[in-house]
Amino acid sequence: MITGKNYIGNKLSAKGSKTYNTFNPLLNFENEYVYTEATSEEIDEAVEIASKAFKTFRTINGKRKAAFLNAIADEILALDDILIQTYCSETGLPEGRAKGERGRTVGQLRMFADLVAEGSWVDATIDTAQPSREPLPKSDIRKMLIPLGPVVVFGASNFPLAYSTAGGDTAAALASGCPVIVKSHPMHAGTGELVSSAIIKAAERTNMPNGVFSNLNSSGIEVGTQLVNHPKVKAVGFTGSIKGGRALYNLAVQRDEPIPVFAEMGSINPVIILPEALKNRNESIAKTYANSITLGTGQFCTNPGLILGIKGEHLTKFMVKLSEEIIKIDPSCMLHPNIAQAFHNGRSQAIEQDDLQVVAEYRNEIKNNFARQTLTNVSGDTFLKNSTLHQEVFGPYSLIVECDNTEQLEEIVSKLEGQLTGTVIADNGEVSHYSQVISALQNRVGRVIYNGVPTGVEVCPSMTHGGPYPASTDSRFTAVGIHSIKRWVRPFSYQDWPDTLLPDELKNENPLGISRLVDGKQTLEKL
Ligand code: NAP
Repeated sequence: MITGKNYIGNKLSAKGSKTYNTFNPLLNFENEYVYTEATSEEIDEAVEIASKAFKTFRTINGKRKAAFLNAIADEILALDDILIQTYCSETGLPEGRAKGERGRTVGQLRMFADLVAEGSWVDATIDTAQPSREPLPKSDIRKMLIPLGPVVVFGASNFPLAYSTAGGDTAAALASGCPVIVKSHPMHAGTGELVSSAIIKAAERTNMPNGVFSNLNSSGIEVGTQLVNHPKVKAVGFTGSIKGGRALYNLAVQRDEPIPVFAEMGSINPVIILPEALKNRNESIAKTYANSITLGTGQFCTNPGLILGIKGEHLTKFMVKLSEEIIKIDPSCMLHPNIAQAFHNGRSQAIEQDDLQVVAEYRNEIKNNFARQTLTNVSGDTFLKNSTLHQEVFGPYSLIVECDNTEQLEEIVSKLEGQLTGTVIADNGEVSHYSQVISALQNRVGRVIYNGVPTGVEVCPSMTHGGPYPASTDSRFTAVGIHSIKRWVRPFSYQDWPDTLLPDELKNENPLGISRLVDGKQTLEKL
């Protein structure tokens, strides 16, 4: 049942007077439930109980945290149809996508459960004492990763399940031992509340301390601002626009005690199509890319917004084919009128730039909140001169750049802002002739793809979803996969600490049987 209230730990609360509704973009009307924005007092209460919960939660062992994470997954599945219907009514996305995203969310929770149940993720490192070392004796030093404290997670508009309430950031933070306060995304407040109810049920079922999770409604920047400024909040996870992510990052570094903000933001995901591939397969590449550009109405952070090739007959043919293919695709609905408007504005701004041609644009009538897929084209010189062309247009939009030659291609790649992904389409070993271009690409992105599409982010340990700024605020970490847990922890060392007082991870007996680096050797053995 949706109440429209905030979860302050396990208590439902709605003390405020500011309310809002979510919106069904497909049917173009407001949904019935009314959500009450969290007040300043409720925000304080949520952070206070999170801070109190941290004292217990940080000491809870991996097996119990795993039971909690698995219980969240079970409770999300138990929500069944109401969750799927609410998701669809708040996003305009189809049922198949809702179910797929739910599967991914549940899968992520279970992946983190396995990680913490096994336990080696804490990177336990032990250097035993050498009392008779000359000229000075060496102490016994033992290190492991420990949680930072309460984490604020901002739900993403484009992934109401997988990167929101119980999404990747939340799962990783809870797995690490950090309580989470979610700043719910206003566009899918109902989905957020339902998932929150699942988390709270799971917390109660597995005896987690009250305050380990709270969900705060908000529509506007005030709640998020207060949360990021709260002295008892110790880290922030965010997925959304560069503007929003950067604003939160700036707030966090200006605090008396600066805290890390892990923001995953804009990316245009350059795709380089090399000449042999263009000559041999331009039709099939065009079909594949027409689908990738329009997938999910272009509302993926890995959407291919920039296609780079060397000018000539084959690139021209490819542009014609891609135009034909992209126009054949029926336009689809965007997540919300505001995002549809932002797409419209971004697209108009791009189209107005000097020396830019629109090569394809869906011209027939479209419904409210739907997007006209658009393809544009500029020369390499124009692209290099105009930084507006380097900006993300969030939606089904892509710009094709005709480079004069390989040198200009390399120059363009090396001058791009940081990106989540870079793709290379190549044939017959031609890639070996472009080592400088590939090297420039590696310097600008978090992941390179060979002969594929950037859309579709596999959740697995080897995935890097992040990249140099502004793709993310800290390119050293991934937002997807088990290693994203490292964002919410810090290394901590014990020096000459008595064995009985050490955490199990570092005890001589190795009671958890985890893998540890002992005196330079990775081992499962006890000391
Ligand atoms: P957003 O505007 O960045 O907002 C994301 C969340 O951050 C919202 O909950 C928002 O709160 C909050 N927020 C934004 N600016 C803030 C500030 N200055 N201080 C405190 N809180 C702030 O992103 P969105 O709502 O998801 O979508 C808007 C645009 O972001 C899209 O049109 C698109 O361009 C871009 N976007 C990009 C990606 C990507 O992966 N590249 C993903 C999603 C969206 P309120 O909504 O309550 O104001």
